[in-house]
Amino acid sequence: MLDGLAYGQVIYDERGEAIDYIYLQVNKNFEKLTGLKDVIGKKVTEVVTDIGTSNPDWIPAHGRVATTGKPERFEEYIAPLSKWFFISLYSTQKGFFISVFQNITERKQMEKNMEDFKLALDNISDNVIITDPEGVVVYVNKAVEKATGYKPDEVIGKKSGALWKTPMPLAYYQNMWNVIKAQKKVFVGEIQNRRKNGELYTAIISISPVLDAKSDVEFFVSIERDVTKEREVERAKNEFLSLASHQLRTPPSIIGWYTEMLQSGELGPINEKQADYLKEIYAANKRMIAIINSLLNISRIEMGTFAISPKEIDLKAIVDETAKELSSQFKRTIIMKADYDPSIKSFKADPNIIQIVIDNLLSNAFKYSPPENTTIEITARVENDFFFLSVKDNGIGIPAKDQARVFEKLFRADNAISANPDGTGLGLYMIKKVIVDGLGGKIWFASDENNGTTFSVSLPISSMNEKTGTTALSQTL
Ligand code: ADP
Repeated sequence: MLDGLAYGQVIYDERGEAIDYIYLQVNKNFEKLTGLKDVIGKKVTEVVTDIGTSNPDWIPAHGRVATTGKPERFEEYIAPLSKWFFISLYSTQKGFFISVFQNITERKQMEKNMEDFKLALDNISDNVIITDPEGVVVYVNKAVEKATGYKPDEVIGKKSGALWKTPMPLAYYQNMWNVIKAQKKVFVGEIQNRRKNGELYTAIISISPVLDAKSDVEFFVSIERDVTKEREVERAKNEFLSLASHQLRTPPSIIGWYTEMLQSGELGPINEKQADYLKEIYAANKRMIAIINSLLNISRIEMGTFAISPKEIDLKAIVDETAKELSSQFKRTIIMKADYDPSIKSFKADPNIIQIVIDNLLSNAFKYSPPENTTIEITARVENDFFFLSVKDNGIGIPAKDQARVFEKLFRADNAISANPDGTGLGLYMIKKVIVDGLGGKIWFASDENNGTTFSVSLPISSMNEKTGTTALSQTL
């Protein structure tokens, strides 16, 4: 038996009020549970000297029970012992009592921790929802009411999935349950739910399974951050960008045509200096078109509206053509070493996307290489449903401190800015988005400052399935 037991006799003053008691008998657990030794024959005020001040009703309660014979049960913290007890007092003989008690300090501590924990959760601005393993809500913090309009008692005890009337497809939930319940891993995703008033909201959700000692799911803790406003702003920005870029594309196209017409001499002879200037105008205009196209592509990629139309492609022709174009643009000859695996003959991919990837990697290799003795090596092969391409240069390299940031939007390393002030910092961001997020591929690099850089790409060929009804990405070279 884990309970403690004490049998005692109450001491009353002349007015009949209980002022103390004497321990007559205690069980073995008494010492274990209270920490008090050799109490038999002693008064409680001798054993716990401060009991009168720390627990003013302690002795009177024993007195009441011993006088009336009516049992009392209560939880009490005994400060001098730093312990919580659950006590049941009985009396079978006037003036005597039996106390049966348990040490509940640990439970009380846990309750207190839980209260502190709840208080902390209540005060955070993200939605926190705790459910049992079946998805039945057991706790929601204050933020949930603010975000969804549901009061805690409208939510607790209900299945979370049924509550929010989500428009998410069934497959989303199947995957989520698989991750959190079968694999017992953290699920992170973007979700749309409905508020009580029917309004849709978008949230980033992270659900963690909490496991018990046997590794079974005890709870799911779900943290939701409402990103509706952010998504709306992003959409508006992308739509604006897309619209503005479309409008911006027409004037440079017109400048391009007229420049070409002037250059052709059809409108009359032009002298050498004029020809030089026209060339500059033409090149600058081309750069402007490339930047506009990059911006357009980024808005399409970020909105997820770019098209994929796979076709049989001639990779070698694309690379050769691009290298020729770049050689004339950069006015330099390069030593191109190309290594094409024969397997790439049967390669089917979206030529547009492949072109954009090659344009970016090759133009970077050109831009960030020395004017003389530029060697660029290209390797391409198809292996197990993957297409690999790498572009190696012997240029300025990427300083170690900047390597983690090269795929960030608009990032340019200092050495790149001084080598070529014309870059935008959009190319790698764009192709990483297309390759990784759009097509499930990978892009990586190895670089040594002042010695050169190798960028590599791998693309799963089967992910290049037709994606119609959307816009194709624009060329950026
Ligand atoms: P941009 O070349 O227009 O600046 P990118 O997104 O293509 O933009 O590249 C981002 C940055 O990555 C570059 O500014 C440069 O610092 C670095 N970088 C990319 N390719 C190379 C390369 N081949 N050699 C050295 N640095 C490179």
